[in-house]
Amino acid sequence: MRKYNAAVVGGCAAGMTAAINAKRLNPELNIVIIEKLPRIGKKILATGNGRCNMTNLSAVASDYKNADFVEKVFEKYPPEKVVDFFESTGLLTYADSESRVYPRSNMAASVLDSLRFEIEGLGIDVICDMPVSEITKKNGGFEINREILCEKLIIATGGKSSPSQGSDGSGYSLAKQLGHSVTKLYPSLVPLTVKENVKPLKGVRARNVELTLKTDREIKKTKGELLFTDGGISGIAAMELAAAAEELLERVKQKTFTSIDFLPDMNLTQLIDYMLKLKDIKGYCSIDMLFSGILPKSLGIEICKACSLYKQEKKIARLNRREIINLAEKAKSFELEITGTKGFANAQVTSGGVSIEEINPETMESVICKGLYFAGEIIDVDAPCGGYNLQWAFASGLLAGENI
Ligand SMILES: Cc1cc2nc3c(=O)[nH]c(=O)nc-3n(C[C@H](O)[C@H](O)[C@H](O)COP(=O)(O)OP(=O)(O)OC[C@H]3O[C@@H](n4cnc5c(N)ncnc54)[C@H](O)[C@@H]3O)c2cc1C
Repeated sequence: MRKYNAAVVGGCAAGMTAAINAKRLNPELNIVIIEKLPRIGKKILATGNGRCNMTNLSAVASDYKNADFVEKVFEKYPPEKVVDFFESTGLLTYADSESRVYPRSNMAASVLDSLRFEIEGLGIDVICDMPVSEITKKNGGFEINREILCEKLIIATGGKSSPSQGSDGSGYSLAKQLGHSVTKLYPSLVPLTVKENVKPLKGVRARNVELTLKTDREIKKTKGELLFTDGGISGIAAMELAAAAEELLERVKQKTFTSIDFLPDMNLTQLIDYMLKLKDIKGYCSIDMLFSGILPKSLGIEICKACSLYKQEKKIARLNRREIINLAEKAKSFELEITGTKGFANAQVTSGGVSIEEINPETMESVICKGLYFAGEIIDVDAPCGGYNLQWAFASGLLAGENI
């Protein structure tokens, strides 16, 4: 039986920062990271399309689920402190125009390396290829997989999204073994599936659209990029609706739609005026070209089809005023019925997790089980795209590490 002062189960964003902070603050601490995959930090490499959007300088607690809980953690570790932490490992960063922070190298591998080498330099033990499936309380501490004893324990096993990167939801059963409850889990930041046939639009990207999630009333709005896929929609604007859409479909069991405004920067009158002008100057063109000055051509064709106004040989000049108004309205509220999401396998984040009622946000220690701490996505906290989720993982990891 190997013995440690502290063990961290889960060696990725939250677990690595927790172990580093703990060891830096208490160099005498005999600490181990236990990871089920052959290497630590695999998911970091996949983040931000390989660039790792590490945090967001404008992230505040109200951007997150369970904001009051997050607030306490960010009082100690706001985004600037996370940036400082990485700088202290030698990693320099920059922020883009939307305050999203990336490594100067633009490579996620740099973020992982900065953590890996810090772990090595500090002499933190790392055990890989060890999926933890059993934790019991023993002599005031914990026994892990009947192989390792520790006095203090941090569970940082992530959620159940993207299981190919290790986070398969097994952490929830570890939390339950130690008396914790887990809230309902939904895949978040994941593509949506829709009822309509959107295959003709597969691969078409529309930038800066506005989406509204609705049943018989408006539920949520998002803005950003939209990408049509085989059976649905992806891109940041669509993915940010996913958890709310899943919850509606499951809990409320109501038909759920997304209304797409492809041109949120133009109001309806401006769009109608533009199209009437186009009728004058491009009237000789086929209807295929109607939206080609402002939207991808294939999208314009689908908008015409949705208004039953599409005939390839039809000229723009043949459209009457009523038809132009219908087309403009459709471009500003193109409805698709949501049937579901692409599930946890394709989700970037899990919404739901270990109940915040059972964790002290000043320390990240369990209020049920002394000596047990949580950090990262395993907790019932999540946020939109843009560096917010890693900010949470790093901040809660640093805080848990400080307190063991
Ligand atoms: C494709 C993709 C891109 C993303 N891009 C961004 C981005 O750019 N910016 C951003 O802010 N967020 C991004 N996210 C979300 C972000 O990566 C996560 O929120 C964050 O990694 C959560 O950190 P964590 O340490 O809590 O959990 P994870 O990163 O999921 O790490 C958990 C670790 O625990 C290990 N583990 C799990 N169970 C066990 C067990 N039983 N025993 C031992 N080890 C176990 C896993 O193998 C894993 O290494 C992205 C996610 C994905 C999937």
